[in-house]
Parts: sequence; structure tokens; C-alpha cells
Amino acid sequence: TNRDDHNVRVCAIKFLCLLDGSNTLHKTFMEDIFIKLLDKDEEVSRSRTRYYANSLQHRIKNRVWQTLLILLPKLDQNFLCGILDKVFQAGFSNNQASVKYFIEWIVIMSLHRYPQFLNKFWDCFSYDEEKLKTSICTFLSVLSHFDIILQNTPEKKPALKKALIVVLQWCFNHNFSVRLYALVALKKIWGMCRMLHVEEFEALTPVIESSLQQVENMHGTGNARRNWQRIQDHFFFATFHPLKDYSLEAIFYILPRLSELAEDEWISLSKFDRFTDIPLPPAFQWYHSRTELRDLKPSDWSQQDMGSSSSETDSQTEWTDVQKKIIPWKNSTPSLDLEMVFQDRAAKLGKSNSRLIVVASLIDKPTNLGGLCRTSEIFGASALVVGSLHYIQDKQFQHLSVSAEQWLPLVEVKPSQLVDYLQQKKNEGYTIIGVEQTAKSFDLTEYCFPEKSLLLLGNEHEGIPANLIHHLDVCVEIPQQGIIRSLNVHVSGALLIWEYTRQQVIKQKQ
Ligand code: SAH
Repeated sequence: TNRDDHNVRVCAIKFLCLLDGSNTLHKTFMEDIFIKLLDKDEEVSRSRTRYYANSLQHRIKNRVWQTLLILLPKLDQNFLCGILDKVFQAGFSNNQASVKYFIEWIVIMSLHRYPQFLNKFWDCFSYDEEKLKTSICTFLSVLSHFDIILQNTPEKKPALKKALIVVLQWCFNHNFSVRLYALVALKKIWGMCRMLHVEEFEALTPVIESSLQQVENMHGTGNARRNWQRIQDHFFFATFHPLKDYSLEAIFYILPRLSELAEDEWISLSKFDRFTDIPLPPAFQWYHSRTELRDLKPSDWSQQDMGSSSSETDSQTEWTDVQKKIIPWKNSTPSLDLEMVFQDRAAKLGKSNSRLIVVASLIDKPTNLGGLCRTSEIFGASALVVGSLHYIQDKQFQHLSVSAEQWLPLVEVKPSQLVDYLQQKKNEGYTIIGVEQTAKSFDLTEYCFPEKSLLLLGNEHEGIPANLIHHLDVCVEIPQQGIIRSLNVHVSGALLIWEYTRQQVIKQKQ
């Protein structure tokens, strides 16, 4: 429940950093965790075909891959050889951007250390298209760091040849994003070929050069050109260096920030000293990231999976619509002064400009009252009138009202006082509107609410008693089509409150 768990995480990460691969006990322990974490990732992938940014799944996966990255340098060739396939498999699932970067990073580091694993890597490009879809972008992103991967290889030409052949195929994919990633990789690999003068490719030179030229010179201001620019400026291709940026700061702060992971997941470097004073081993020099990376701002190109979509326009938007979980005071970033926010809202209490009064004195059920309280608060009614203020203490009321009673003036008017109260409001200029199905009710779709409206809701069983109906200016009913004879009273109230609000908003816009 408490998401601010940096303290615990920092201790756990530091503990992992202190482990030593040459100690057999440490080694088995790390290998065991590594496998369990990979299994965890797979489990999350399996349970959801789609998981959303800032979901629990996203946070879990993100932490899984951060931890794997920490452990990676301590593992030996034998072990890595056995589990690399699992890492590749993870690259095939639909992942959020932050998770993808970590997977790609791990693949690049593994291939850099053990270029003999490249053969396994090439296999990833030969699955059938149905399985690959846009997850191929993950593997193409790895190829865009091919210079780093080949650093340790004396005989670079065969690998380059293979890379060129693989990447060229994807430059013709029907999916626009896939083509973009393939072109970025092609540009890098072709540059390397030129430097090393790979003779076999001499014949290809004019074709590839003119193709690359074509992309660079895309006309106009269209999407294609913009996206080509964006992807090339993207930090993962333009600035990020998988070896030089291997640091606690990059893993736990910078990448999460650049990939727009929820802010409370970013762990700043200072916490690694503050939360535990155990020093890391001298061999561990990777605290800080390079300033080039640290100073970057999140770019507007988001590296995301686009499912099976092959159209060019919807590929960017498909992932972006998710539920908003609004925490009002969190919107007022950067520095959130809770005290101020609450004072502000308290000052507004009772001073709402709304001229809508909701009268629920006839309602008996705490659940309906609690629900109405929440709805009235959200739409900024100026007051909710209840038969007794004792309801506020009711557990069920509180459960439904989710503390809305603290932000909305509640007024007590007993049912016996209602006639007088309604008269008084009438004198103040309010139109007294009965929310009820009567022979003379207006249809809600045709009723135009006056600015000063008072809504009187009926009792759950009796509705609005006949003697009160005489005192009303008008009745409004919600047209029904089904068999059940009436709506729930909170639902009815909510629909009228919404319609009132809607009409006022439209008036304000005019
Ligand atoms: N008169 C109803 C009783 C209760 S429904 C009956 O005997 O069937 C409880 C309250 O919900 C009503 O008093 C009214 O305020 C509201 N309500 C329910 N259905 C409604 C509708 N279709 N239009 C307007 N108000 C409705």
C-alpha cells in the first residue's frame, strides 16, 4: 500500500551489489534469483496480454529487469548461455518502453561480453511474422548498438555481413515503425561496413546509399520525416551508451525518468548513501551516469509496442489511452505543498459558485446518501441537505462517500421541516424541482435547468409524498425503457446533477 519503498529497495540492491561471483554460495544464490526473476517476468507477461503504463504489472516488470541488470556482470558464461534464450523470449512480449530498454540493454551487454552468443541472437529474426509483430523493434534496437557488440570481436566482417542481411529484410516491412527501427540499425551497420571496407558489399553500395539518402531527404513536414528525426534523436540511439552508462544512477533514475515511468519509481543516487552507510566494494565504480545522459529530457518519440497494428497513423496512439488515476494535489507539481492545497480547498468550502442544492432529506439508506455526497462534491453542488447529520458517522455512508463530506457543506433539514425549507429557498429565487415520475413530469431530455436549481429526491420506497408534490415548481423524470419501475435514487440524482452541470458548462462556453 505504501509505494514509497525506496528505503527497502535501496538496501536490497546494495546487498546484491555486494555479492561476489567467485564465491560459490553467492554464485548459486544469484543464479537462483536471476532465474526466479525471469520466471516472474514471464508470469506477468502471461497473465496480461496488455499491461499499461504505471500499472502494478509495469512496476513489477520494471523492477525485475533493473535487478537483472545489476546481477548481469556477476554471472559467468556458462550460466548466461543457459538462460539467454529466456531473455530473448522476454524481448518478444509486448512491453512498456522502460522495460524494453532494460531488456535491450541486457542483450547488448551479454553479446558484447560473449560474441559467441550472436548465433542464438540471429535466430530471433527468423521467427514467423505472426510471433514477431512489432517486438522485432526490440531486436533491431539491439542492432543499432552493433558497434559496441562487436568491440571484443577480432573478426568483425562475418558478423557484419550477417547483420546487414538480417537488417535489410526488415527495411521492407509493411509496418512503418518496424521500417524506422530497421533503418536506424541499417545506418549504423552500413557505417561500420564502410569503415571496414567489406569488399563483398561493394556491389550493394549504390543501392544502400541511395536508399539511406532517400530517408534522409524525405520531403516536407509530414509524419514520416518527423518520425525519422525523432527516432534518431531518441536518447537510446543518440546518447545512451550501454557500457559507459552502466551505473546505478542510469538504471534506477535516469532511464526510468527518460522512459516516463511513474515518478515514484525513480530512485535518486543520494538515497543509496542515505538509506544505508555500507560502502559498495571498490571494484564497483558505477555510481554516476555520464552527464550527457543525465541532462537529457524525455523525448517525444516513445518506443512502444504497437500490437499487431500495421497502419501508420494509429500505431502511436493505440497505447496512450489508459485510465487516469487522479490525485489532485499530485497534479500541482513540481513542489507539492499539501498544507496549501488543503487550505485552498477548505477556503472554497461553502463558497462554491454553483447554485445547485441537492435535497436528500427523504432518503433513508446511508449508502444512497454516501453516494450522493460523493457525486454532489464532484460536481461542485453548493450543498447537500440531509434528514440528519448522524448519517455521517455511518460506516456504509463513509464507505460510499470516500470523505467527500469534508469538502461539501452538509445541511440538516428534517423531513418535518421540509415544507418550510422549500418555501424559504423559493423566496431566495430557487426553482424547486422534484426528481420524480409523475403524470405531469418533464422529460429530462427536454428540461432546461435554471441556474438556481434545488433538486428534491424521493424516498427509496415511497418516493416524494403527495403533500410535498404540491409545493414543487416542477417535476422532472428520467425516461425509462425497461420493465423495472424505477431507478435507484442515487442514480436518479446523479443523472439530474450531471444534466444540470452539463447545461451550465455549455452556457459558460457561449
Ligand atoms: N416512486 C417510486 C419509488 C422510489 S424510487 C416507486 O414507487 O416506484 C426512489 C426515488 O428515485 C424516486 O422518488 C425518485 O426521486 C427517483 N427516481 C427513480 N426513478 C426515477 C425516474 N425514472 N425519474 C426520476 N426520478 C426517479
